[in-house]
Amino acid sequence: MSMEAFIMERAASLGFAAAGIARAGASRSWPRYRQWLDAGMHAGMSYLARRARERETPAALLPGARSVLAVAARYPSRGGSRWYSTYAQGLDYHEALGLRLRALADDIAKRAGRPVRSRVCVDTAPLLEREWAVRAGLGWLGRQNSLVVPGAGCCVFIGALLLDMELEASPERSSQCGDCRLCVDACPAGALRHDGFLDARLCRSYLSIEHAGALPAGPGGGLAGTVYGCDACTAVCPWNRQGENLALSEFNPVPELPDPGQIIALSAGGFERVFAGTPIRRIGLGRLRRNALAAIGRT
Ligand code: SF4
Ligand code: SF4
Repeated sequence: MSMEAFIMERAASLGFAAAGIARAGASRSWPRYRQWLDAGMHAGMSYLARRARERETPAALLPGARSVLAVAARYPSRGGSRWYSTYAQGLDYHEALGLRLRALADDIAKRAGRPVRSRVCVDTAPLLEREWAVRAGLGWLGRQNSLVVPGAGCCVFIGALLLDMELEASPERSSQCGDCRLCVDACPAGALRHDGFLDARLCRSYLSIEHAGALPAGPGGGLAGTVYGCDACTAVCPWNRQGENLALSEFNPVPELPDPGQIIALSAGGFERVFAGTPIRRIGLGRLRRNALAAIGRT
């Protein structure tokens, strides 16, 4: 069995819904990414601009990088509380994907019979993960700016393993969005622009998770119907009808997450208890309370 086939088999046995390999090299989407930053569409995520140049090539993160192994892990698109994005209601994906990718790196080194230099990236390093997932043949970038994986939908987390090992690249796939514009039409905030950019300044997901301070007035700022994240553009994607069976059990929703009224009444200890291990804990009780008030139209 070739090394590439071995990697695909191991990735599947670790529970990844899709995996593929791309040759490491210069990013193709970096100029467009720069345009997005220059237009200020990254809103308050200044960390994206600070380390922008490192995203030009994976070699900036792993000197001598030759290959990018990209993986997608599915999370449930249904169930849980309607007030939170479905991806956030289970265990934190950084940990779940990171552990699996480290295990995969060990397996690759064992099989190669030599030390292999590698770096795990799960939203933790300045890498244009979606581009590498597309180049590794996992799927395509949908109009909602998320990866769409045939057979697994767009409710997926992306991870990458940079390797100093030369591997054969997987074939790329072209977009199958066709004439569909369901996600663009479903966005309640007008954040999905006609030129294909996602304007984070309007996006409810950005505003509820990343934005510090008071919420701005306007279509996204009201947060009607959400206290954490927004699923409107992924929920309507027809490709999401596939792959629910591939969801990893650690991403199953934690039972009985509080609704906005209960959040407002939560103590600091109660917050820690309820949200331990989930990505929601990262934003803290103050921001979650702010969102809860906005979600029910109070300030
Ligand atoms: S997450 Fe919500 S607000 Fe953001 S682009 Fe998608 S539908 Fe629009
Ligand atoms: S909803 Fe339609 S346009 Fe949007 S990502 Fe899915 S297939 Fe593509």
